[in-house]
Amino acid sequence: MAKAHILGFPRIGAQRELKFAVESYWRGDIGLGALQETGKILRQRHWAVQADAGLDVVSVGDFAWYDQVLNTLALLGAVPTRFKFDPKKLTLADYFTLARGNPEHFAMEMTKWFDTNYHYLVPEFTADISFDGGVDWLFEENAEAIALGHATKVTLVGPLSLLYLGKIKSGVAHKLDFLPKVIAGYQRVLQRLQEAGVEWVQIDEPILALELDAAWCAAFAPTYQALSPVAPKLLLATYFDQVREHSALLRDLPVAGVHLDLVRGVGQLPAFLQDWPQDRVLSAGVVDGRNIWRADLDSVLALLAPLHAVLGERLWVSASCSLLHVPVDLAHENKLDAELKGWLAFATQKVSEVTALKRALNGETQAVSAQFTAAALAFAARKVSPRIHNPLVQKRLSQIDGISVNRNQVFADRIVRQQARFNLPAFPTTNIGSFPQTTDIRQARAQYKRGEMGHLDYLNCMREEVRLVVQKQEEIGLDVLVHGEPERNDMVEYFGEQLWGYAFTANGWVQSYGSRCVKPPFIYGDVYRPEAMTVGWSEFAQSLTAKPMKGMLTGPVTMLQWSFVRDDQARDQTALQIALALRDEVIDLEKAGIGMIQIDEPAFREGLPLKAADWPHYLDWAVKAFRITASGVQDDTQIHTHMCYSEFNDILPWIAAMDADVITIETSRSDMELLDGFGEFAYPNDIGPGVYDIHSPRVPKVEEMQRLLRKARGVIPDQRLWVNPDCGLKTRGWPETTAALENMVLAARTLRAEVAQQEQAA
Ligand code: GLN
Ligand code: ZN
Repeated sequence: MAKAHILGFPRIGAQRELKFAVESYWRGDIGLGALQETGKILRQRHWAVQADAGLDVVSVGDFAWYDQVLNTLALLGAVPTRFKFDPKKLTLADYFTLARGNPEHFAMEMTKWFDTNYHYLVPEFTADISFDGGVDWLFEENAEAIALGHATKVTLVGPLSLLYLGKIKSGVAHKLDFLPKVIAGYQRVLQRLQEAGVEWVQIDEPILALELDAAWCAAFAPTYQALSPVAPKLLLATYFDQVREHSALLRDLPVAGVHLDLVRGVGQLPAFLQDWPQDRVLSAGVVDGRNIWRADLDSVLALLAPLHAVLGERLWVSASCSLLHVPVDLAHENKLDAELKGWLAFATQKVSEVTALKRALNGETQAVSAQFTAAALAFAARKVSPRIHNPLVQKRLSQIDGISVNRNQVFADRIVRQQARFNLPAFPTTNIGSFPQTTDIRQARAQYKRGEMGHLDYLNCMREEVRLVVQKQEEIGLDVLVHGEPERNDMVEYFGEQLWGYAFTANGWVQSYGSRCVKPPFIYGDVYRPEAMTVGWSEFAQSLTAKPMKGMLTGPVTMLQWSFVRDDQARDQTALQIALALRDEVIDLEKAGIGMIQIDEPAFREGLPLKAADWPHYLDWAVKAFRITASGVQDDTQIHTHMCYSEFNDILPWIAAMDADVITIETSRSDMELLDGFGEFAYPNDIGPGVYDIHSPRVPKVEEMQRLLRKARGVIPDQRLWVNPDCGLKTRGWPETTAALENMVLAARTLRAEVAQQEQAA
């Protein structure tokens, strides 16, 4: 009899209960007792979903007040020592301080969990750190589930992944030098779980999906040899990509089971099946934990059946990875179009897909036949639905090779024409796009959405806002203006709502970090732009000023990256469709007299595949998509792009290949260090390195920005250098925005004067 389980369930709650409870607790509106009660109710509810659906075990250890990596550190007692907490007496308040910082200590660093949009807290390893036991939450939660009558499987972030994802702050030269301490810590935890009667522990080692060097690979055998004798049965979980190159390593590990992601890596199966150990469990991750499409149960069953024939009860059916990365429950989507809804599965539905597959394998065909039929019908309907394929898009896509991805002239010649047209001063000042989204703006947008405000009233209201933003920028003395994006709630949603092929959920929240959730749209069909999306706004804004007004678009890669993407065609095809739609918008903006157009690509870097071997393919199509978007204009039209939150240095050749006339990037938080790579690489086009951090209300002094500009001048030639903030200002208030921009303009003017003087003297 095959078994069924999942690697983890989303913890936030279908109505984001955890978010609201945690935030109320932070504000002091509710006490610790009420917060803990919410956590308990959510765990109870999520276990019930799993047990009621028929999973053989429920997941314990996937719950976290903020983050699963921080939970693991709290469990091991290995929290950053700079906070001076006693790990053995760690409280929930301390835990939140680690995550969020306090006036004395900056928060733990946060970074993306592999190629997902989930952010984990980065472990900090120092000489004085102990792995000597911390909080008892995991043990308590397991007891809680047992008391409710559930069979449990406890999940843990694995020791090597925990170490790999952390940062060495002091004490040792190489992270692996810490391994003995880490192993001792895990031994204690695992032993305690064994003593508590836990049968299975799922130990996640997602780093196996990366390109690991020999030292890390070699660390697996001794680590697991040390752990397994004192541990319950271990299910070693890999996910997010195939791990074929580690098949021998995994075969020889003393673990009771291995989980493989068969959605992203179905091709790895033969390498593992060749000599799968006799007594070992194979957990087959066949339901997509990273996307929201309903599974094609019949074809998944066809994949599983031969495995089941060989493995029998040693086959466990599962989702590819933790369901943390998908929304909680489709049942709450009552506004979604019925046809589209029929194509989707959120976490709750995925749990039931997993159990349906198990039942079918176990011969309970009758019991699940209705579910299989419904899935087959939905799948067939999706394939032939007229909403998927748009003949206009298909036709253009078939002719895409005839579209030029080049501007007419090279940058050196274009910039001469652009300079003649715009006549900008040295070190031109500009903004990244958005201006403060005040309560008035948000209220008006909400009223309009609810139908309480008419279309023209809404337009007027937002136009007033644009007028204000333009006037402010003129007063401040900026050189290149923006309209402020008041009409946009979100940079992807705004465009998605105007494009065919995109749809939105009411409640499809996914945890991004801590209490922060995002609601990505989904792309179900060919992307087509029925009419211009931004031209009216930009045209109006330009009419208010003689200075150049930048048109403002979200680029094709970001439109893709921050959405759930259709799985019935390759991602690059969808990216090209978006690029074609945006190309038309760019051309329309130019026709309307907009001379500068910014195409934001903040998510360009994060689209990179996990394995460097897969980078070139991604970068090729991502650059192509950008160039298709940008290349339909005359040479005196200036194309800008913007990127942030990224390490750019390893992809500079491709950033250069995008061939934007101007790129603005986030650099102030790294004290311009991010810029060094651009200098070494001799990045050829114009650059605006951010001179102030927009993430805090703090107003940077003129001298600070001058210092950063001086640093930038050491790397970037004067003629190529722009002056701007790190990113958009939508989360800021007006007072600090005005003050900071005034200082920024002053910094640029002072620099101009200095340079003019130097030139005269020379
Ligand atoms: N133009 C966008 C803004 O200013 C860019 C946002 C981003 O980079 N994330 O808000
Ligand atoms: Zn940005």
